[in-house]
Amino acid sequence: MADGQLPDFVLRDVELSARTTLALPGRATLLAEITAADQLAQLAGSGGPRRCILGDGSNVVLSGDFDGLLLHMAISGRELIGEDDQAWYVRAGAGENWHQLVTWTLEQGWPGLENLAWIPGTVGAAPIQNIGAYGLEVADRFLSLEACDMLTGKTRRLDRAACRFAYRDSVFKQQGWHLDGRLAITRVTFRLPKAWQALTGYADLAAELARQQIARPSAREIAAAVIAVRSRKLPDPAVLPNAGSFFHNPVVDAAVGERLASAYPKVPRYLQADGRVKLAAGWLIEQSGWKGRDLGRVGMYEKQALVLVNRGGARGEEVVALMKAVQADVRERFGIELFPEPVFL
Ligand code: NAP
Repeated sequence: MADGQLPDFVLRDVELSARTTLALPGRATLLAEITAADQLAQLAGSGGPRRCILGDGSNVVLSGDFDGLLLHMAISGRELIGEDDQAWYVRAGAGENWHQLVTWTLEQGWPGLENLAWIPGTVGAAPIQNIGAYGLEVADRFLSLEACDMLTGKTRRLDRAACRFAYRDSVFKQQGWHLDGRLAITRVTFRLPKAWQALTGYADLAAELARQQIARPSAREIAAAVIAVRSRKLPDPAVLPNAGSFFHNPVVDAAVGERLASAYPKVPRYLQADGRVKLAAGWLIEQSGWKGRDLGRVGMYEKQALVLVNRGGARGEEVVALMKAVQADVRERFGIELFPEPVFL
C-alpha cells in the first residue's frame, strides 16, 4: 500500500484519546475504518507502515503517537446461523460491542454468555484475551472465528483448538499474530449449549443473588446480578477513564502459594487444574498500599485496586511510571511479578 494511493476509508493524522477508554493523548499517522472484511485485503501485503489492530480501545495504553496504520475493526452484524438439538450457533462481527451481544442473545432466549455481561470491548477482542468472569470464559462458548491474514489478504478460519485458549490468553497474543497486526479477526461464531446450567459459585455473584433473594436464577437474572456487582466495583470510563483490570492475576507454583500463605494466612488462593495456584492481583496491590493511591495524575482505583485510572489529563508515561511503582512494591513485599494486561501502543 503506497501512501499516495490510500483507499478513502483510511484517515490521516487521527487523534486517538477519545478512541481509547484510558483517554491518553496520542495521534495515529493513519487509521482505517474497517466495516467490511474485504477492505482488509486492500491493505494487506508485506512492507508498508507498521500495522496494529484496534477495537473499542478498552484494553490499550497509548504511549504517545502511533506512527503507522491502525485498523479500527468496526464490522457489525449478529445472527443465528444455525440450531440443532444441542445448541444455538450465533455469529457476530468483530466490531460489535461485547455486552450488547450478550444482552441480545439473552433477549432471544439463548442463555450461555450471562456471566460475561458488562465486560467492555468488542466481539473481535474477546477471543484474543479469552475474556472471562465469574467462572466462565469465552473459550467455553467459542466455536470458530474468521480472520484476514494481513500478509496474504486471505481469509482464515480458526477453530477452538487452533486458538489455543488458556487463562486470559490465546494464540493471538503470541508474537506474529493479531497483536502485531498479522491476523485481523473479522467474525466470531459462538456455540450456546441448550443444556444450560447456572454458574453462580463466585462469592460476589452468589452474594448479590442472595441479596436479591433469588435462589434459582435465570440467565437474565444472573446477567443483571453481574451488572450490579461490576458497576458497583468498576469505574465507568466515561466518568473516570480506565482500561479495566490493569494486571493479570498471577498463576504460581503450589510451593510459592504455600510460602505466601504461611506469611499471609489471608491470601486468596485458587487451585488450578494443573496443580498451580491463582492469586488475586487486586489483593496483592491492595496489601502493598496502592488501593486508592495516586501517582501524579493516575492512580489505583479506590473500590478495586486492580484498575488503574486516569484522574484527568494524564499521559502515557505517567501510566508506565505507576505500573512500575506497583510492580516494584508487589515484588518487594510478596516476591510476585505482576504483568500488565493491556496492550501498549
Ligand atoms: P473477584 O471476584 O474479586 O476475584 C478475584 C480473583 O479471585 C480472580 O482471580 C478470580 O478468578 C478469583 N476467584 C474469585 N472467586 C473464585 C472462585 N470461586 N473460584 C476460582 N477463582 C476465584 O474479581 P473481580 O476483580 O471483582 O472480577 C470479577 C470477575 O471478572 C473475575 O472473574 C475476573 O477474572 C473477571 N474480570 C475479567 C476481565 C477480563 O477478562 N479481562 C477483566 C476484569 C475482570 P478468575 O479471574 O479466574 O475469575
